[in-house]
Amino acid sequence: MDLTSVRTVRVPRRRDETVCAPGEVVLGGGTWLFSEPQPGVTGLVDLTGLGWPPLTGTDAGVSIAATCTFAELAAMGRAALGPVTALVDACCEALLGSAKVQRAATVGGNVCLALPAGPMIALAATLDARALVWTPGGGERTEPVADLVLGVRHTGLRTGEVLRSIEVPRAALGSRTASRRLALSPLGRSGAFVTGRVDPAGQTVVVVTASTPRPYVLRFDAPPEPGELADAVHAIDDWYDDPHGAPDWRHAMTVLLAEQVRAELAAAPGIPAPPGGRA
Ligand SMILES: Cc1cc2nc3c(=O)[nH]c(=O)nc-3n(C[C@H](O)[C@H](O)[C@H](O)COP(=O)(O)OP(=O)(O)OC[C@H]3O[C@@H](n4cnc5c(N)ncnc54)[C@H](O)[C@@H]3O)c2cc1C
Repeated sequence: MDLTSVRTVRVPRRRDETVCAPGEVVLGGGTWLFSEPQPGVTGLVDLTGLGWPPLTGTDAGVSIAATCTFAELAAMGRAALGPVTALVDACCEALLGSAKVQRAATVGGNVCLALPAGPMIALAATLDARALVWTPGGGERTEPVADLVLGVRHTGLRTGEVLRSIEVPRAALGSRTASRRLALSPLGRSGAFVTGRVDPAGQTVVVVTASTPRPYVLRFDAPPEPGELADAVHAIDDWYDDPHGAPDWRHAMTVLLAEQVRAELAAAPGIPAPPGGRA
């Protein structure tokens, strides 16, 4: 769609050029920004010109650039991502866009848009990833992605802040993972998405997205029993209501999917080593 109020498109080459002036917004892949009218937006600041590498190995784990596209992430494969590759693939596939959308949509745009069905929110929350946020004036801060997303189209990003990357800790990369997704139609947007992982010590994380306005992270010191997990899901009192699913259906399906994720994680034979071999 033509954004008729836009007068300028800036492509920053340096960090200080990413600061938005009044009326400007940050542009990732534009798959949402260009999909509906943006009243009041007079300028775009295109982060893709900064040339951030999509994925960088660090001492602490891996750093996924905010500008990494779904297609780039899906192409990383096991050598870069280790055992969690299957979860990464499931989360990339959960955005049911054409190849063109997958090639443009970015990890950062998905998180910052903060839709309930944001699969990169599910991925980051499941892997205990932290958002590295550039703050105006040259500083930075980090925050769990699960806490950054506060509600539908609502994040904890403050004026002038830019999501730089998603930092995934190495320990999480050694986890076994499972996921289940449901939509009302075969190519529909997720109505319920449950993702989970168990680490080598048995600590288990189950994350509920799409059926709730924001991510819910359920943690267990040891693999939960069926009733324990069901109780934790039933304790959520915040089921989302939109054309992609009624709250009671989302609640019921989340209980079902969570049990399937639990059972798959419990049945997992061994814990493979993360990339680089360290847990
Ligand atoms: C066919 C189709 C299917 C879709 N399905 C889904 C779906 O299932 N789930 C879902 O969540 N979305 C879906 N979307 C919406 C959207 O495409 C995705 O959320 C996508 O990941 C957004 O990424 P983007 O890079 O295109 O963001 P953009 O459109 O560029 O930006 C989205 C928002 O994030 C802000 N932003 C972008 N990057 C940053 C950053 N680094 N720091 C701060 N703010 C930033 C922008 O200012 C804007 O407000 C779909 C879209 C289409 C066209």
